[in-house]
Amino acid sequence: MDRVISVSFGEIALKAGNRKYFEDKLIKQMRKAMSGITYEKIYKEQGKIYIEAAEENFPQIINRLKKVFGLVYISPCIRIEKDFEEIKKASIEAAKEKMESGNITTFKVDTNRGDKNFPMKSPEMSREIGGVILNNFNDLTVDVHKPDFYLYIDIKQYAYIYTVKVKGYGGLPLGTNGKGLLLLSGGIDSPVAGFMMARRGVEINAVHYHSYPFTSERAEEKVKDLALILSRYIGPIKIYSVNIINIQKEINKNCPADEMTILSRRFMMRIAERIAVENNYQALITGESLGQVASQTIHGLNVTNRSVNLPVFRPLIGFDKVDIIKIAKDIETFETSILPYEDCCTVFLPKHPVTKPKVEDIEESEKALNIEELMEDTMKNMKIYTIS
Ligand code: ATP
Ligand code: MG
Repeated sequence: MDRVISVSFGEIALKAGNRKYFEDKLIKQMRKAMSGITYEKIYKEQGKIYIEAAEENFPQIINRLKKVFGLVYISPCIRIEKDFEEIKKASIEAAKEKMESGNITTFKVDTNRGDKNFPMKSPEMSREIGGVILNNFNDLTVDVHKPDFYLYIDIKQYAYIYTVKVKGYGGLPLGTNGKGLLLLSGGIDSPVAGFMMARRGVEINAVHYHSYPFTSERAEEKVKDLALILSRYIGPIKIYSVNIINIQKEINKNCPADEMTILSRRFMMRIAERIAVENNYQALITGESLGQVASQTIHGLNVTNRSVNLPVFRPLIGFDKVDIIKIAKDIETFETSILPYEDCCTVFLPKHPVTKPKVEDIEESEKALNIEELMEDTMKNMKIYTIS
């Protein structure tokens, strides 16, 4: 009886034409995630991927694989030859181990016969093994609706027996959907937005705007900490760090006070777009959510959008704050996000920001600014570093 880890993937399995491409990308990401841990081999077998490794490394491997996008379930399995006696023995062993977790009285066997040449059909196998389990464990009964555990039997080149399915995040393997530039603030939303697009296979780097010395170095550190947490899922992240204090001062001096936020937001988008075009990012990503604050009304978003041509992905657009917080807690960015350091948007914050800005009015206000010169001066001092 060998021990292996199996992983299953969801949507990739549906990609008829380029399934191999997605599988290979996934394996590459899995290898990356497991770097530093010893394992013998990774192999594909009929729609799943398997890892041979020493059993003591399983918890560590599973922990790392949980963060690889594209994986739906991860299971420690017993692998045997597809021989009924072997399957019987392994099933008893798997059930015994499951029982040790305590408080278990019901089970159900679920067989999947990938090898259609195997003589026993799935329902027959489930029935037979169910009988074996009942004979060996007096305290267990079958419950086909809501069992305390499932005993899974996959029959392929080998037979695989398992009772545990650790949930992954699903999605698509990183790097299968181009590159996106995340506008990363120190708040709750933008790290979640980055996570969600990365989960769809988008490689992510980030741009952060600060207003040093009006904002502190601690605020900058917080953004690095957030990037570090994100890097657990997506690997090293490049941060383009841009000081926009001069732009903010110019807006403050020359434009209506209530347009401060929307005007600086347009500069943020323009600078991000310029970085994106120069570095081959195909989209911008923000943590905006409809109606959350004055600048994120439908009118505000419209005006923000009109400053750039690249597509802007806003994965949180239809989310309530409580839902965003739930994800932030799950991906472990929340505790860092709520640290109380100031944000560049709080500099010159208007008391009554416009909630229904019109593009014409905003463009009129911008005539008082030398946009090109401000952009160039600002980007000259951009710092770039990598967090990993
Ligand atoms: P968050 O929790 O992400 O800070 P928020 O609710 O505070 O979002 P805003 O401050 O209006 O919302 O920002 C909206 C979006 O604009 C952010 O999600 C982020 O993508 C981008 N953004 C805001 N401030 C910055 C910044 N200092 N640097 C980079 N991007 C920013
Ligand atoms: Mg913010």
